[in-house]
Amino acid sequence: MLDGIRQIADAVSSGRRSARDVCADHLSRIRQLNARYSAFLQVVDNDALAAADRVDDAVRRGQPPGPLAGVPLALKDNICTRIGRTTCGSRILERYVSPYDATVVERLTAAGAVIIGKTNLDEFAMGSSTEHSAFGPTRNPHDPSRVPGGSSGGSAAAVAAGICPLALGSDTGGSIRQPAALCGVVGVKPTYGRVSRLGLVAFASSLDQIGPFAANTTDAALALEIISGLDRGDSTSAPHPVPAWSDSIDDAVKPLVIGVPRQAYGDAVHPDMRRAFEAAIAAFERAGASLRAIDLPILDEGVAAYYIVAPAEASSNLARYDGVRYGRRASLVPGEGLDALYERSRAEGFGAEVKRRILLGTHVLSSGYYDAYYATACRARRRMLDGFNAAFAAGCRCILTPTTTGPAFGLGEKSDDPLAMYLEDVFTVAANLAGLPAMSIPAGVSKGEGAALPLGVQLVAPAYGEDVMLRAARMLERELPPPPRPI
Ligand code: GLN
Repeated sequence: MLDGIRQIADAVSSGRRSARDVCADHLSRIRQLNARYSAFLQVVDNDALAAADRVDDAVRRGQPPGPLAGVPLALKDNICTRIGRTTCGSRILERYVSPYDATVVERLTAAGAVIIGKTNLDEFAMGSSTEHSAFGPTRNPHDPSRVPGGSSGGSAAAVAAGICPLALGSDTGGSIRQPAALCGVVGVKPTYGRVSRLGLVAFASSLDQIGPFAANTTDAALALEIISGLDRGDSTSAPHPVPAWSDSIDDAVKPLVIGVPRQAYGDAVHPDMRRAFEAAIAAFERAGASLRAIDLPILDEGVAAYYIVAPAEASSNLARYDGVRYGRRASLVPGEGLDALYERSRAEGFGAEVKRRILLGTHVLSSGYYDAYYATACRARRRMLDGFNAAFAAGCRCILTPTTTGPAFGLGEKSDDPLAMYLEDVFTVAANLAGLPAMSIPAGVSKGEGAALPLGVQLVAPAYGEDVMLRAARMLERELPPPPRPI
C-alpha cells in the first residue's frame, strides 16, 4: 500500500519528497497492476510527470503548492479533461477530446493534485458492475474473478489496489457508494448541488453528483472540501458555505442518534452483510451513539422510481449523440438519408444497456404513459424526501443501512439479468432521488471459500449535512477493524 493523501501532500510540500518521485512511483504501480485489474482506460504518463514538475517548481520557489501537493489523482472517464480522451466507456465517444476541464478537475489541480489517468466505467455510467464498459470489465482487487461494482468501478479498484490515493467518480443511483463498498474503500456522494457538474457528461441531470473515493474518511473529507462549492457554470450548484470538514473530522457528534430502518433487514440481505451491519451498529453504540429503529417504507419504492426517472432523463440527455453534432459517425451509404445515418451511428455506437435505457426512458415519457410512469415516479420521489426528512425532524442525525445486499459478485453472474443488476441498487438510489448526502464506509467482510471480500455500510444525512455525516463516519471507522487488504 502506498501513502495516503495527507502523507503525500505533507511530504511534497515540505520538500521531503518530490512530486515527480511520487508520480513515478504510482505510474510504475499502474504498469505493474493495470493488466490484472483494468482499472484505467488511459494513463497520461507524460502529462502527469510535467504536472508533478510544476508542483516541485512551486515548492522550490517557496510558493504554496496547495493542500493536495503532488497527490496522484484518477478520474472516472465521464469527467471532462483536456488531456487524454473522455470516452464515457462508450464506442460513440471513443475518440472524444474535451475542449475544457471539468470544474472539479480545475479545483483539484489548482490544489496541487496530479492527474495520472482516466478510469473505467459502465458505459455512460449505466450499470452496477463496470461490465457494461465498451472496453472490457474492471476486476475487483480482492478477487479478480469478481466485479468491482459500478459504475465507477475503475476508480474504486484503483484506490483499493493502492494504485492511486484519490479518485473521483459520479453517483446517479449508487455508482460511488456501491463500488466503494465492494472494493473496501470510502466513497462519498455529496448533497445534490454541493459539487459542480460542469464537465461531467450528463446521465440523469436531476440525480448526478461527483464525489471522491479514498482509503479513509479523513482523506475523503479533504478531497470533498476542495471540490465543493458554488460554480456559476452549473446552475444547480448551491451557494452553501463549505467548511474545512477534514479539520473537524475527529470531533464527536453529540448527541449522535442514528436511525436504523426496518427495511435494512430485508430478505435479500446476505447473512454476512447482516452480520457486518449488526457489528456496525454495535460499533456505533461503543462510540456513544444511540440507535433508533425507524420505518422508511418508501425505501421499497426506490428501485422502481429510479429506473423510471433515470432512464427518462438519460433518453433526453443522450439524444445529442447522433454522429453529427457529437460522437462517432457511421460510414456514409450512398443514397441513404440523414435519418438512416443517425440510426446507424447510434446503433453502432451504443451498447445494449444504454439502448435499453433509451428505450425505457422514451417509453415512460411518451404520451399516454407519462402519467402512469413518469409522474407516478416523481410523486414517489417526493414521498421519499418527506420520509427521510420526517426521520431527521424526529431527531435522527444520520440513517444507517447496508450499502449493498452482499459482497462483490462474480464477473458474468448478473450480466444477462438486467433486473438482478438493477436490484443491486436497493439501498443507494433513495439518497439520489431525495438529493441527500450519503457515503459508504468499509464494514466487515464476507468470507467464502476464496479471499475475504469487503462489505460496506451507508450513512445518509440531511441536505448539506456532510459535516455530521463525515464525523459520524469517522466515529464508526475508529471502532471497526480496517478492511481486508487486496491480494
Ligand atoms: N447502478 C445504477 C444504474 O445503473 C446507478 C448508476 C450510477 O450511479 N451512475 O443506473
